[in-house]
Amino acid sequence: MNPSNPVLCEVDLIVKNISELLTLSPSFKEESGLGVIRNGAITVKEGKIFWVGQTDQMPKEFVLGQYGQEMNATGKVVMPGLIDSHTHLIFAGSREGEFEQRIQGLSYLDIAGRGGGILSTVDATRKASFEELFSLGKKRLDRMISKGVTTIEAKSGYGLSLRDEMKILKVMKALREIHPMEIVPTFLGAHTLPKEFRNERSRYMDLLVEEMIPEVAREGVAEFCDVFCEEKAFTLEESKKILETGKRYGLKPKIHADQLSPGGGAELAAEVGAFSADHLEYVSQEGIQKMAEEGVTAVLLPGASFFLSVKKYPPAREMIEKGVLVSIATDLNPGSSMTESLPLMMTMGCTMFKMIPKEVIEATTIHAAKSMDREKEIGSLDVGKQADILLLDIPGYRYLPYHFGVDHTEVVIKKGKIVYKNK
Ligand SMILES: [Zn+2]
Repeated sequence: MNPSNPVLCEVDLIVKNISELLTLSPSFKEESGLGVIRNGAITVKEGKIFWVGQTDQMPKEFVLGQYGQEMNATGKVVMPGLIDSHTHLIFAGSREGEFEQRIQGLSYLDIAGRGGGILSTVDATRKASFEELFSLGKKRLDRMISKGVTTIEAKSGYGLSLRDEMKILKVMKALREIHPMEIVPTFLGAHTLPKEFRNERSRYMDLLVEEMIPEVAREGVAEFCDVFCEEKAFTLEESKKILETGKRYGLKPKIHADQLSPGGGAELAAEVGAFSADHLEYVSQEGIQKMAEEGVTAVLLPGASFFLSVKKYPPAREMIEKGVLVSIATDLNPGSSMTESLPLMMTMGCTMFKMIPKEVIEATTIHAAKSMDREKEIGSLDVGKQADILLLDIPGYRYLPYHFGVDHTEVVIKKGKIVYKNK
Protein backbone atom coordinates (compact mmCIF):
# COMPACT_ATOMS: atom_id res chain seq x y z
CA MET A 1 0.00 0.00 0.00
CA ASN A 2 1.37 3.41 -0.94
CA PRO A 3 1.07 5.63 2.13
CA SER A 4 0.87 8.80 0.04
CA ASN A 5 -2.15 7.39 -1.76
CA PRO A 6 -4.08 5.29 0.74
CA VAL A 7 -6.94 4.50 -1.64
CA LEU A 8 -4.77 2.20 -3.81
CA CYS A 9 -5.32 -1.51 -3.31
CA GLU A 10 -2.56 -3.97 -4.20
CA VAL A 11 -3.58 -7.22 -5.85
CA ASP A 12 -1.44 -10.15 -7.08
CA LEU A 13 -3.14 -10.97 -10.35
CA ILE A 14 -5.49 -9.25 -12.77
CA VAL A 15 -7.05 -11.06 -15.73
CA LYS A 16 -9.11 -8.71 -17.87
CA ASN A 17 -10.98 -8.30 -21.16
CA ILE A 18 -12.18 -11.90 -20.81
CA SER A 19 -14.64 -12.67 -23.61
CA GLU A 20 -16.57 -15.13 -21.44
CA LEU A 21 -15.89 -15.34 -17.74
CA LEU A 22 -17.75 -18.39 -16.39
CA THR A 23 -18.19 -17.73 -12.69
CA LEU A 24 -20.55 -20.67 -11.96
CA SER A 25 -21.73 -18.36 -9.22
CA PRO A 26 -25.38 -17.80 -8.32
CA SER A 27 -24.48 -14.13 -7.74
CA PHE A 28 -24.22 -13.63 -11.51
CA LYS A 29 -27.48 -14.90 -12.92
CA GLU A 30 -27.94 -14.81 -16.70
CA GLU A 31 -29.53 -16.96 -19.36
CA SER A 32 -26.77 -19.60 -19.76
CA GLY A 33 -27.01 -20.57 -16.08
CA LEU A 34 -23.21 -20.58 -15.78
CA GLY A 35 -22.96 -17.06 -14.36
CA VAL A 36 -21.27 -15.76 -17.51
CA ILE A 37 -19.82 -12.24 -17.48
CA ARG A 38 -18.93 -10.84 -20.90
CA ASN A 39 -15.83 -8.67 -21.11
CA GLY A 40 -15.12 -9.89 -17.62
CA ALA A 41 -12.26 -9.36 -15.22
CA ILE A 42 -11.05 -11.14 -12.14
CA THR A 43 -8.49 -10.14 -9.54
CA VAL A 44 -6.64 -12.31 -7.04
CA LYS A 45 -5.05 -11.44 -3.72
CA GLU A 46 -3.20 -13.81 -1.39
CA GLY A 47 -4.35 -16.91 -3.26
CA LYS A 48 -8.03 -16.00 -3.08
CA ILE A 49 -10.46 -14.44 -5.51
CA PHE A 50 -10.66 -10.77 -4.60
CA TRP A 51 -12.97 -9.20 -7.14
CA VAL A 52 -15.07 -10.41 -10.11
CA GLY A 53 -17.00 -8.28 -12.59
CA GLN A 54 -16.91 -6.49 -15.94
CA THR A 55 -13.56 -5.10 -17.04
CA ASP A 56 -14.89 -1.54 -17.38
CA GLN A 57 -16.25 -1.65 -13.84
CA MET A 58 -13.04 -2.84 -12.21
CA PRO A 59 -12.14 -0.35 -9.45
CA LYS A 60 -9.39 2.05 -10.53
CA GLU A 61 -7.73 1.61 -7.12
CA PHE A 62 -6.48 -1.88 -8.00
CA VAL A 63 -2.73 -1.90 -8.63
CA LEU A 64 -0.39 -4.83 -9.06
CA GLY A 65 1.90 -5.67 -6.17
CA GLN A 66 5.66 -6.06 -6.67
CA TYR A 67 5.41 -9.57 -8.15
CA GLY A 68 1.94 -9.09 -9.56
CA GLN A 69 0.90 -10.13 -13.04
CA GLU A 70 -1.67 -8.90 -15.48
CA MET A 71 -3.15 -10.98 -18.30
CA ASN A 72 -5.22 -9.96 -21.24
CA ALA A 73 -7.84 -12.57 -22.18
CA THR A 74 -9.39 -11.00 -25.26
CA GLY A 75 -11.15 -13.69 -27.32
CA LYS A 76 -10.78 -16.25 -24.52
CA VAL A 77 -12.74 -18.07 -21.85
CA VAL A 78 -11.87 -18.05 -18.14
CA MET A 79 -13.48 -20.52 -15.75
CA PRO A 80 -12.83 -22.31 -12.46
CA GLY A 81 -10.02 -24.92 -12.53
CA LEU A 82 -11.45 -28.33 -13.48
CA ILE A 83 -12.06 -30.89 -10.72
CA ASP A 84 -11.70 -34.62 -11.39
CA SER A 85 -13.98 -36.23 -8.82
CA HIS A 86 -13.02 -39.91 -9.31
CA THR A 87 -9.52 -41.22 -10.06
CA HIS A 88 -7.47 -44.27 -9.14
CA LEU A 89 -4.27 -42.21 -9.38
CA ILE A 90 -1.72 -44.57 -7.87
CA PHE A 91 -0.99 -47.89 -9.55
CA ALA A 92 1.91 -49.60 -11.28
CA GLY A 93 1.97 -51.46 -14.57
CA SER A 94 -0.36 -51.11 -17.52
CA ARG A 95 -2.78 -53.40 -19.31
CA GLU A 96 -2.54 -52.65 -23.02
CA GLY A 97 -2.24 -56.39 -23.75
CA GLU A 98 -5.64 -56.89 -22.16
CA PHE A 99 -6.98 -54.02 -24.27
CA GLU A 100 -5.90 -55.87 -27.41
CA GLN A 101 -7.39 -59.16 -26.17
CA ARG A 102 -10.70 -57.45 -25.51
CA ILE A 103 -10.75 -55.98 -29.01
CA GLN A 104 -10.30 -59.53 -30.29
CA GLY A 105 -13.34 -60.68 -28.35
CA LEU A 106 -12.00 -62.13 -25.11
CA SER A 107 -14.26 -61.77 -22.09
CA TYR A 108 -13.40 -60.38 -18.69
CA LEU A 109 -13.21 -63.93 -17.31
CA ASP A 110 -10.92 -65.13 -20.12
CA ILE A 111 -8.63 -62.19 -19.44
CA ALA A 112 -8.57 -62.79 -15.69
CA GLY A 113 -7.87 -66.51 -16.44
CA ARG A 114 -4.78 -65.42 -18.43
CA GLY A 115 -3.48 -63.44 -15.48
CA GLY A 116 -4.97 -60.04 -16.42
CA GLY A 117 -7.59 -57.93 -14.71
CA ILE A 118 -7.51 -55.92 -11.51
CA LEU A 119 -5.44 -58.45 -9.56
CA SER A 120 -2.59 -58.09 -12.06
CA THR A 121 -2.48 -54.38 -11.19
CA VAL A 122 -2.55 -55.27 -7.49
CA ASP A 123 0.49 -57.53 -8.05
CA ALA A 124 2.39 -54.83 -9.94
CA THR A 125 1.50 -52.16 -7.36
CA ARG A 126 2.56 -54.34 -4.44
CA LYS A 127 5.91 -54.99 -6.14
CA ALA A 128 6.51 -51.31 -6.94
CA SER A 129 8.58 -49.19 -4.58
CA PHE A 130 7.37 -45.97 -2.99
CA GLU A 131 9.65 -44.04 -5.36
CA GLU A 132 8.31 -45.79 -8.46
CA LEU A 133 4.71 -45.09 -7.49
CA PHE A 134 5.60 -41.51 -6.65
CA SER A 135 7.18 -40.93 -10.04
CA LEU A 136 4.25 -42.56 -11.91
CA GLY A 137 1.78 -40.47 -9.89
CA LYS A 138 3.70 -37.28 -10.57
CA LYS A 139 3.64 -37.84 -14.33
CA ARG A 140 -0.11 -38.40 -14.20
CA LEU A 141 -0.63 -35.22 -12.17
CA ASP A 142 1.46 -33.24 -14.68
CA ARG A 143 -0.74 -34.51 -17.51
CA MET A 144 -3.88 -33.59 -15.58
CA ILE A 145 -2.69 -30.05 -14.88
CA SER A 146 -1.98 -29.60 -18.59
CA LYS A 147 -5.66 -30.42 -19.21
CA GLY A 148 -6.75 -27.65 -16.82
CA VAL A 149 -7.39 -29.79 -13.76
CA THR A 150 -6.52 -28.20 -10.39
CA THR A 151 -8.08 -30.63 -7.87
CA ILE A 152 -8.62 -34.39 -7.97
CA GLU A 153 -10.06 -37.08 -5.79
CA ALA A 154 -7.69 -40.08 -5.66
CA LYS A 155 -8.43 -43.56 -4.39
CA SER A 156 -6.14 -46.24 -3.06
CA GLY A 157 -7.27 -49.80 -3.73
CA TYR A 158 -4.47 -51.57 -5.63
CA GLY A 159 -2.69 -52.58 -2.43
CA LEU A 160 -5.37 -54.57 -0.56
CA SER A 161 -3.10 -55.19 2.42
CA LEU A 162 -2.47 -52.84 5.30
CA ARG A 163 1.12 -52.27 4.23
CA ASP A 164 0.39 -51.70 0.54
CA GLU A 165 -2.70 -49.54 1.03
CA MET A 166 -0.68 -47.36 3.43
CA LYS A 167 2.15 -47.18 0.87
CA ILE A 168 -0.28 -45.86 -1.76
CA LEU A 169 -1.89 -43.33 0.59
CA LYS A 170 1.54 -42.12 1.73
CA VAL A 171 2.61 -41.67 -1.90
CA MET A 172 -0.43 -39.41 -2.34
CA LYS A 173 0.54 -37.47 0.78
CA ALA A 174 4.11 -37.01 -0.51
CA LEU A 175 2.77 -35.87 -3.91
CA ARG A 176 0.53 -33.33 -2.20
CA GLU A 177 3.59 -31.79 -0.63
CA ILE A 178 5.50 -31.24 -3.87
CA HIS A 179 2.85 -30.85 -6.53
CA PRO A 180 0.46 -27.93 -7.11
CA MET A 181 -2.41 -30.37 -7.72
CA GLU A 182 -4.77 -30.58 -4.76
CA ILE A 183 -5.32 -34.28 -4.03
CA VAL A 184 -8.29 -35.39 -1.94
CA PRO A 185 -7.42 -38.91 -0.72
CA THR A 186 -9.88 -41.79 -0.46
CA PHE A 187 -9.28 -45.19 1.11
CA LEU A 188 -10.60 -47.95 -1.15
CA GLY A 189 -9.33 -51.07 0.58
CA ALA A 190 -12.70 -52.57 -0.36
CA HIS A 191 -11.92 -52.46 -4.10
CA THR A 192 -11.91 -56.23 -4.57
CA LEU A 193 -11.00 -59.32 -2.59
CA PRO A 194 -7.22 -59.92 -2.70
CA LYS A 195 -6.23 -63.35 -3.99
CA GLU A 196 -4.84 -64.56 -0.66
CA PHE A 197 -8.34 -64.02 0.83
CA ARG A 198 -10.23 -65.54 -2.11
CA ASN A 199 -11.89 -68.14 0.06
CA GLU A 200 -11.94 -66.09 3.25
CA ARG A 201 -14.24 -63.14 2.70
CA SER A 202 -15.06 -62.67 6.34
CA ARG A 203 -11.37 -62.55 7.29
CA TYR A 204 -10.75 -59.77 4.75
CA MET A 205 -13.79 -57.92 6.10
CA ASP A 206 -12.30 -58.21 9.60
CA LEU A 207 -8.98 -56.90 8.34
CA LEU A 208 -10.73 -53.92 6.73
CA VAL A 209 -12.87 -52.88 9.68
CA GLU A 210 -10.58 -53.87 12.55
CA GLU A 211 -7.15 -52.95 11.22
CA MET A 212 -7.06 -51.04 7.95
CA ILE A 213 -9.74 -48.38 8.55
CA PRO A 214 -8.50 -47.59 12.10
CA GLU A 215 -4.87 -47.33 10.89
CA VAL A 216 -5.75 -45.16 7.87
CA ALA A 217 -7.72 -42.84 10.18
CA ARG A 218 -4.95 -42.76 12.81
CA GLU A 219 -2.36 -41.81 10.20
CA GLY A 220 -4.64 -39.14 8.76
CA VAL A 221 -3.88 -40.26 5.19
CA ALA A 222 -7.45 -40.37 3.85
CA GLU A 223 -10.49 -38.14 4.03
CA PHE A 224 -13.03 -40.47 2.42
CA CYS A 225 -13.75 -44.19 2.57
CA ASP A 226 -15.08 -45.87 -0.57
CA VAL A 227 -16.33 -49.37 -1.35
CA PHE A 228 -16.96 -51.30 -4.56
CA CYS A 229 -20.54 -52.38 -3.87
CA GLU A 230 -21.34 -55.08 -6.40
CA GLU A 231 -22.31 -58.74 -6.41
CA LYS A 232 -18.77 -59.66 -7.58
CA ALA A 233 -17.04 -57.36 -5.07
CA PHE A 234 -18.69 -56.37 -1.76
CA THR A 235 -22.35 -57.04 -0.92
CA LEU A 236 -24.75 -54.36 0.28
CA GLU A 237 -24.43 -55.58 3.83
CA GLU A 238 -20.61 -55.64 3.71
CA SER A 239 -20.53 -52.23 2.04
CA LYS A 240 -22.73 -50.77 4.75
CA LYS A 241 -20.50 -52.17 7.47
CA ILE A 242 -17.37 -50.76 5.81
CA LEU A 243 -18.87 -47.30 5.28
CA GLU A 244 -20.36 -47.13 8.79
CA THR A 245 -17.01 -48.17 10.28
CA GLY A 246 -15.29 -45.51 8.19
CA LYS A 247 -17.75 -42.91 9.50
CA ARG A 248 -17.05 -43.89 13.10
CA TYR A 249 -13.38 -43.19 12.40
CA GLY A 250 -14.12 -39.85 10.74
CA LEU A 251 -13.85 -40.99 7.10
CA LYS A 252 -16.61 -39.61 4.88
CA PRO A 253 -18.47 -42.17 2.75
CA LYS A 254 -18.41 -42.64 -1.03
CA ILE A 255 -19.53 -45.66 -3.00
CA HIS A 256 -18.99 -47.42 -6.36
CA ALA A 257 -22.64 -48.31 -6.98
CA ASP A 258 -24.86 -50.13 -9.48
CA GLN A 259 -22.18 -50.44 -12.17
CA LEU A 260 -22.88 -53.98 -13.37
CA SER A 261 -26.29 -54.71 -11.87
CA PRO A 262 -29.06 -52.88 -9.96
CA GLY A 263 -27.78 -53.74 -6.50
CA GLY A 264 -29.29 -51.05 -4.27
CA GLY A 265 -25.99 -49.15 -4.08
CA ALA A 266 -27.58 -45.74 -4.69
CA GLU A 267 -30.13 -46.38 -1.93
CA LEU A 268 -27.31 -47.33 0.42
CA ALA A 269 -25.44 -44.14 -0.53
CA ALA A 270 -28.50 -42.12 0.55
CA GLU A 271 -28.93 -44.15 3.73
CA VAL A 272 -25.34 -43.69 4.97
CA GLY A 273 -25.15 -40.05 3.85
CA ALA A 274 -22.51 -40.64 1.15
CA PHE A 275 -21.11 -37.57 -0.58
CA SER A 276 -21.28 -39.39 -3.90
CA ALA A 277 -22.46 -42.56 -5.57
CA ASP A 278 -20.31 -43.34 -8.58
CA HIS A 279 -20.93 -45.24 -11.88
CA LEU A 280 -24.74 -45.81 -11.56
CA GLU A 281 -25.27 -47.53 -14.92
CA TYR A 282 -28.04 -49.65 -13.35
CA VAL A 283 -29.37 -47.20 -10.75
CA SER A 284 -33.01 -47.84 -9.83
CA GLN A 285 -35.85 -45.30 -9.81
CA GLU A 286 -35.92 -45.47 -6.05
CA GLY A 287 -32.16 -44.94 -5.92
CA ILE A 288 -32.45 -41.78 -8.03
CA GLN A 289 -35.26 -40.49 -5.83
CA LYS A 290 -33.32 -41.10 -2.63
CA MET A 291 -30.13 -39.57 -3.99
CA ALA A 292 -32.09 -36.42 -4.90
CA GLU A 293 -33.68 -36.26 -1.44
CA GLU A 294 -30.43 -36.77 0.45
CA GLY A 295 -28.24 -34.63 -1.81
CA VAL A 296 -25.91 -37.45 -2.92
CA THR A 297 -23.94 -36.34 -5.99
CA ALA A 298 -23.89 -38.80 -8.91
CA VAL A 299 -20.37 -39.21 -10.29
CA LEU A 300 -20.61 -40.58 -13.83
CA LEU A 301 -17.66 -42.11 -15.68
CA PRO A 302 -18.15 -42.04 -19.45
CA GLY A 303 -14.53 -43.04 -20.12
CA ALA A 304 -15.16 -46.50 -18.66
CA SER A 305 -18.32 -47.03 -20.77
CA PHE A 306 -16.46 -45.83 -23.85
CA PHE A 307 -13.30 -47.87 -23.28
CA LEU A 308 -15.13 -51.11 -22.43
CA SER A 309 -17.68 -50.53 -25.23
CA VAL A 310 -20.51 -50.91 -22.72
CA LYS A 311 -23.83 -49.90 -24.20
CA LYS A 312 -25.68 -49.49 -20.91
CA TYR A 313 -25.25 -45.86 -19.84
CA PRO A 314 -26.30 -44.26 -16.56
CA PRO A 315 -29.58 -42.33 -16.93
CA ALA A 316 -27.94 -38.91 -16.67
CA ARG A 317 -30.89 -36.94 -18.07
CA GLU A 318 -33.34 -38.56 -15.74
CA MET A 319 -31.11 -37.90 -12.74
CA ILE A 320 -30.68 -34.24 -13.72
CA GLU A 321 -34.42 -33.84 -14.25
CA LYS A 322 -35.14 -35.37 -10.85
CA GLY A 323 -32.77 -32.96 -9.13
CA VAL A 324 -29.66 -35.11 -8.61
CA LEU A 325 -26.43 -33.15 -8.99
CA VAL A 326 -24.32 -34.88 -11.63
CA SER A 327 -20.53 -34.83 -11.79
CA ILE A 328 -18.33 -36.36 -14.49
CA ALA A 329 -14.86 -37.78 -13.89
CA THR A 330 -12.10 -39.68 -15.68
CA ASP A 331 -12.06 -42.80 -13.44
CA LEU A 332 -8.34 -42.87 -14.36
CA ASN A 333 -7.29 -46.51 -13.92
CA PRO A 334 -5.28 -49.03 -15.97
CA GLY A 335 -8.15 -51.46 -16.68
CA SER A 336 -11.20 -49.54 -17.80
CA SER A 337 -10.25 -45.89 -18.31
CA MET A 338 -6.60 -45.10 -18.96
CA THR A 339 -6.90 -41.36 -19.42
CA GLU A 340 -6.08 -38.14 -17.58
CA SER A 341 -8.22 -36.01 -19.89
CA LEU A 342 -11.23 -34.54 -18.14
CA PRO A 343 -12.12 -32.33 -21.16
CA LEU A 344 -12.45 -35.53 -23.24
CA MET A 345 -14.86 -36.89 -20.60
CA MET A 346 -16.89 -33.70 -20.99
CA THR A 347 -17.32 -34.43 -24.69
CA MET A 348 -18.34 -38.01 -23.90
CA GLY A 349 -20.81 -36.72 -21.29
CA CYS A 350 -22.41 -34.73 -24.10
CA THR A 351 -22.41 -37.35 -26.84
CA MET A 352 -23.03 -40.49 -24.78
CA PHE A 353 -25.06 -39.25 -21.80
CA LYS A 354 -26.86 -36.42 -23.64
CA MET A 355 -25.73 -33.76 -21.24
CA ILE A 356 -25.50 -30.25 -22.70
CA PRO A 357 -22.24 -28.25 -22.55
CA LYS A 358 -23.49 -26.19 -19.59
CA GLU A 359 -24.16 -29.40 -17.66
CA VAL A 360 -20.77 -30.99 -18.32
CA ILE A 361 -19.10 -27.76 -17.19
CA GLU A 362 -21.06 -27.80 -13.91
CA ALA A 363 -20.25 -31.52 -13.67
CA THR A 364 -16.50 -30.85 -13.66
CA THR A 365 -16.52 -27.75 -11.45
CA ILE A 366 -19.13 -26.97 -8.81
CA HIS A 367 -20.83 -30.38 -8.73
CA ALA A 368 -17.46 -32.13 -8.61
CA ALA A 369 -16.52 -29.89 -5.66
CA LYS A 370 -19.74 -30.89 -3.89
CA SER A 371 -19.01 -34.61 -4.38
CA MET A 372 -15.73 -34.05 -2.48
CA ASP A 373 -17.12 -31.76 0.25
CA ARG A 374 -15.15 -28.82 -1.20
CA GLU A 375 -17.92 -26.58 -2.57
CA LYS A 376 -17.15 -23.80 -0.08
CA GLU A 377 -13.54 -23.52 -1.28
CA ILE A 378 -13.52 -24.38 -4.99
CA GLY A 379 -15.72 -25.04 -8.04
CA SER A 380 -16.87 -21.47 -8.74
CA LEU A 381 -15.30 -18.04 -9.08
CA ASP A 382 -16.81 -16.35 -6.04
CA VAL A 383 -15.04 -13.69 -4.02
CA GLY A 384 -13.20 -15.31 -1.10
CA LYS A 385 -12.88 -18.73 -2.72
CA GLN A 386 -9.55 -20.28 -3.62
CA ALA A 387 -8.15 -18.73 -6.82
CA ASP A 388 -8.13 -21.88 -8.98
CA ILE A 389 -8.56 -20.43 -12.45
CA LEU A 390 -8.34 -21.79 -15.97
CA LEU A 391 -7.71 -19.67 -19.06
CA LEU A 392 -8.77 -21.39 -22.28
CA ASP A 393 -7.97 -20.40 -25.85
CA ILE A 394 -11.54 -20.87 -27.07
CA PRO A 395 -14.16 -18.35 -28.17
CA GLY A 396 -17.03 -19.55 -25.96
CA TYR A 397 -17.83 -22.25 -23.40
CA ARG A 398 -19.68 -24.58 -25.82
CA TYR A 399 -16.49 -24.82 -27.84
CA LEU A 400 -14.72 -26.74 -25.03
CA PRO A 401 -16.55 -30.10 -25.34
CA TYR A 402 -17.18 -29.48 -29.05
CA HIS A 403 -13.56 -29.37 -30.24
CA PHE A 404 -12.41 -32.59 -28.62
CA GLY A 405 -9.21 -34.55 -28.20
CA VAL A 406 -6.95 -31.48 -28.31
CA ASP A 407 -5.70 -29.09 -25.64
CA HIS A 408 -7.31 -25.67 -25.25
CA THR A 409 -5.52 -24.92 -21.98
CA GLU A 410 -3.52 -21.71 -22.06
CA VAL A 411 -2.85 -20.91 -18.40
CA VAL A 412 -3.67 -22.81 -15.20
CA ILE A 413 -3.68 -20.94 -11.89
CA LYS A 414 -3.76 -22.78 -8.55
CA LYS A 415 -4.27 -20.80 -5.33
CA GLY A 416 -3.40 -17.63 -7.21
CA LYS A 417 -0.13 -18.94 -8.72
CA ILE A 418 0.50 -19.84 -12.35
CA VAL A 419 1.25 -23.59 -12.34
CA TYR A 420 1.01 -24.32 -16.05
CA LYS A 421 1.42 -22.35 -19.26
CA ASN A 422 0.96 -23.78 -22.72
CA LYS A 423 3.87 -22.67 -24.96
ZN1 LIG B 1 -13.53 -46.25 -9.76
